[in-house]
Amino acid sequence: MNTSVTYDLLIRGGTVIDGTKAPRFDADVGIKDGRIAAVGDLAGARAGRTIDAAGLIVAPGFIDSHTHDDQALIARPDMDFKVSQGVTTVIAGNCGISAAPLVRGMKLPMPLDLIDDPHFERHETFASWVQALEAKPAATNVAALVGHSTLRAAAMADLDRVATPEEIAKMQALLVEALDAGAIGLSTGTFYPPAVKASTEEIIEIGRPLSARQGLYVTHMRDESSKVMEALDETFRIGRALGIPVVVSHHKVQNKPNWGRSTETLPFIREAMQKQKVCLDCYPYTAGSTMIRTDRGMLDGRVLIASSEPHPECAGRELGEIAQSWGVEESEAARRMQPGTAIYFLMDEKDVQRILAFDDTMIGSDGIPVGEKPHPRLWGTFPRVLGHYSREVGLFPLETAVWKMTGLTAANFGLAGQGTVALGKQADLVLFDAGTVKDAATYEEPTRPAEGIHTVIVNGGVAWEGGRSTGVRRGRVLRRTPSAAAAAGAAA
Ligand SMILES: [Zn+2]
Repeated sequence: MNTSVTYDLLIRGGTVIDGTKAPRFDADVGIKDGRIAAVGDLAGARAGRTIDAAGLIVAPGFIDSHTHDDQALIARPDMDFKVSQGVTTVIAGNCGISAAPLVRGMKLPMPLDLIDDPHFERHETFASWVQALEAKPAATNVAALVGHSTLRAAAMADLDRVATPEEIAKMQALLVEALDAGAIGLSTGTFYPPAVKASTEEIIEIGRPLSARQGLYVTHMRDESSKVMEALDETFRIGRALGIPVVVSHHKVQNKPNWGRSTETLPFIREAMQKQKVCLDCYPYTAGSTMIRTDRGMLDGRVLIASSEPHPECAGRELGEIAQSWGVEESEAARRMQPGTAIYFLMDEKDVQRILAFDDTMIGSDGIPVGEKPHPRLWGTFPRVLGHYSREVGLFPLETAVWKMTGLTAANFGLAGQGTVALGKQADLVLFDAGTVKDAATYEEPTRPAEGIHTVIVNGGVAWEGGRSTGVRRGRVLRRTPSAAAAAGAAA
C-alpha cells in the first residue's frame, strides 16, 4: 500500500460492506480530495484525521431512491432527518411533484403545495433551482426528476382534462430545459388530482425528449389498489414507447381486498424486466402518507393526521376520533383539514415483506419533510431495513440490505460516482454498528433519530457524528450517466 500519501481522512479498522452484495471484508479506507483513494491495509499511513472504525461496518452512503426533499435541501440544508440514517444522496422530484419549474405567485393545487413554502423562493426554471443548490449546498447530494404535475400546472390553465398539442409542446420545452440543467428524468403522479386526467398518450408525447437522453420515467402509478395490474401495464407501455428505463415508485398493493396481490404484481414486473429496463422501490412500513384525501378508498383503514394548515392542533390525532368530536363523517372531517398530510394504514405486512425481499427492490423512504408528526419513514427507513428487516426478521443478509440502498440504486439511477466503496468513487460513506442499528422513529414519536449510525461522510466531509449534524454541507447536484448505469446494471 502507498504510505507516501497523506490522506485527508483515514477510516481505520472497520469492516467494509462495499455495496455490491459481496461478502464483507476488513479494510481501512483512505480519503483524499473528496474521493476514496485507498481501500486495504493502510497501517502506517498518515492522515489529517483518523476515525477509529473498530467493530463498525463501513458502507457506501445510502441513496434514498424516493424523496420529496426538493425544498428541504434549501430550507433545511443540514438534512438531519436523512444524514442521521446514513443517507448521503436523495432522489428528489418524485410523484409528479418537483420544486421547479414553478410560476411565481401562482396558487398551487394539492399535492403540489407539499414542497412549496411561503419562505421558499420559487424557481421558474430547473436551472435556477440547481444554481440555488450549488450556491448553497445541502449536507446530502441530490439527483432530481422534473414532475409532470408541476409541468401541467406551469403549462395548463385547467388541469381537469387532457393537455392540448400546444400545451404538450410547452411541457416538452420545459422538460428539455430541465434535462439540460441536470434533471435525470420525468416523474408522474397520475394518482393525484392535477394529473388524473392525463392520458397515457399525453405522457408519452411529453416524454419524447427523454428518449435521446436516456432519461428515466419514474411513476407513482394511477392505481395501487384494485387496478394495480393495469397501472403496471401502462407504466411498462410508456417505457417501451419511449425506449427508456422505468421506475415503479413505492410499489405496494393497498386496500384489504387486494392484500396478497404482490404474488401477482412481482412476477409481472419480473416478466417485464426480461423485455425492458424496469426497477422499483419500496418503504418498510404498512402505512403510506400523502396529502389529506377524502375518497373512501383512502379512508378505509386507520388514518392519522400528520399536518393540517387550518387545524394544526390535529397533527398526531386519529381521523375517526376527530370526526367523532366534531360530529361529522370522516370524509367531511378530512375535507375541513385540507390542505395537509395524513398517514394511511392500507397495506399488509406480508406484501411489504415480499416486495422488500424481491431481488431488484431498492429502498426509498418517500418521507415528507413537513409538519411535526410526519410518517416515521422520514427518519427511520434505512435503519429499519438494516435492523428490523435484515437483522431481526432475517429477510435478507446485511450485504443485500446495503446493496438495495447503494449499489443497486446507483446503477438504476445512473449515479456513476456513488453506491460502492471502491477506488475513485466519491467518499460518501456511513459507519454503523451492525448489532445495534435500528430505527427509533415511531408513529407517536416520528422524529427520533435512528440508533447505531456513528459517522456519515459526504464527499469526504463528516456531516453527522456523535448523534448530531456537524454543519458540514458538501452535497452536490448529481447528473445521470446512462452508460455507467447499463454497465453497473449488467454487473449487478
Ligand atoms: Zn408517491
